[in-house]
Amino acid sequence: MQFKRLVALAGIGLVLINCKNDDSAKEIEEDIAEVVEEKKILEFGFNLNDYVVKRDTIRKGDSFGEIMERNKIGYPKIFEIAEKAKDTFDIARRLIPGKPYTLLCSKDSLEIPSTFIYQPNIEDYVVINFKDSIEAYTSKKPITYVEKTATGVIENNISETLDQKGISQVLAYKMADDIYAWTIDFRRLQKGDRFKVIYTDKYISDSIYAGVHDVKAAYFEHKGDSLYAFEFLTDSIKGIRDYFNDKAKNLRRAFLKMPVKFGRLSSRYNLKRRIAYYGNRVRPHKGTDFAAPVGTPIMATANGTVIESTRRGGNGKYVKIRHNDTYTTQYLHMSRQTVKKGDFVKQGDVIGLVGMTGNTGGPHVCYRFWKNGRQVDPFKQKLPEAKPISDSLKIRFLRHIKPIKQQLDNIFFLEAEPKKVETTITEDPIL
Ligand SMILES: [Zn+2]
Repeated sequence: MQFKRLVALAGIGLVLINCKNDDSAKEIEEDIAEVVEEKKILEFGFNLNDYVVKRDTIRKGDSFGEIMERNKIGYPKIFEIAEKAKDTFDIARRLIPGKPYTLLCSKDSLEIPSTFIYQPNIEDYVVINFKDSIEAYTSKKPITYVEKTATGVIENNISETLDQKGISQVLAYKMADDIYAWTIDFRRLQKGDRFKVIYTDKYISDSIYAGVHDVKAAYFEHKGDSLYAFEFLTDSIKGIRDYFNDKAKNLRRAFLKMPVKFGRLSSRYNLKRRIAYYGNRVRPHKGTDFAAPVGTPIMATANGTVIESTRRGGNGKYVKIRHNDTYTTQYLHMSRQTVKKGDFVKQGDVIGLVGMTGNTGGPHVCYRFWKNGRQVDPFKQKLPEAKPISDSLKIRFLRHIKPIKQQLDNIFFLEAEPKKVETTITEDPIL
């Protein structure tokens, strides 16, 4: 399909001088065979070989008029172009400094531009063509999704393992924060834990890497447990996707593990805690402390209704949320609350900021967790599943994952070489 032109190189003359012996015919043949392939370079729907291509970025204070003037297009023409292009793209106002543009110019000594192409982002571009008549349109660079697989064995942590294989760290975040956030503590991975993953990478124009798009399925061996995860669209109208294991159990839980994204667990729930300050007497700590800088957002760990948002004694400024008949949570020592009594909050909503109000030696959030009116250790709870899959959906799910599970099971751990199998798909695999 692709148009190719063969261009013979010079050099035949030299051979002809020596054509007295019998080898000469062969020599000429060999020389002619030495050709260069000139490929059609397609970009923005143009064959760039037909033009002198000038690429630049919009400079501060640049206007379309100035760019045109620098490139030998005069004023009545500039007005005409801007006027005719206006309905598609208002070039007089919408050029942003730092964004790239391309001029396609005539392939003669004058190098007169005939097309202006502006890229407001890496996917979209605007074409203003003014060779003969003036036309303007916007378009998108073609996007492809490439399915890949990867495996890894943990030496120290997952970031390091991915790094050594040249795989994007986004894959680590997706596994730690989205997929296995409730089932595996990624800060406590063990040497020898290993994983397999099937994911898609996004590319623009087949060449520009635009990051990990999606994780289709994963398998994690942690402390001898095998944990499968399969992505599944549970609500095609709302576009809700969740990860389920091979038994159709939702991997997400009704509760987040921690109320802060990047906090350090500084003190666990401990009924036998002894504190020197109190004469080494037992002072039980019924909360779980997460140290984080002042101002760090504190999230509601589950959906619920705010039943208290106030300041009191050693608790300082705090928020208490009732999730249902069974569970209630509380978040202490805030620098300020961002919700008030009666507010309904969703899992992950910011309810306040980390502070040092009340009795505290340093900035942290003390997280308290009640089950049936009794304060318990949230890390020791078998927390409820987020949303069980319906029976009819379960049948569809199990049918859906059958070939994917087979694909996962057939990936072998090849630790010498990163195993990367690639399949190109042009449609968004999620939709
Ligand atoms: Zn505490």
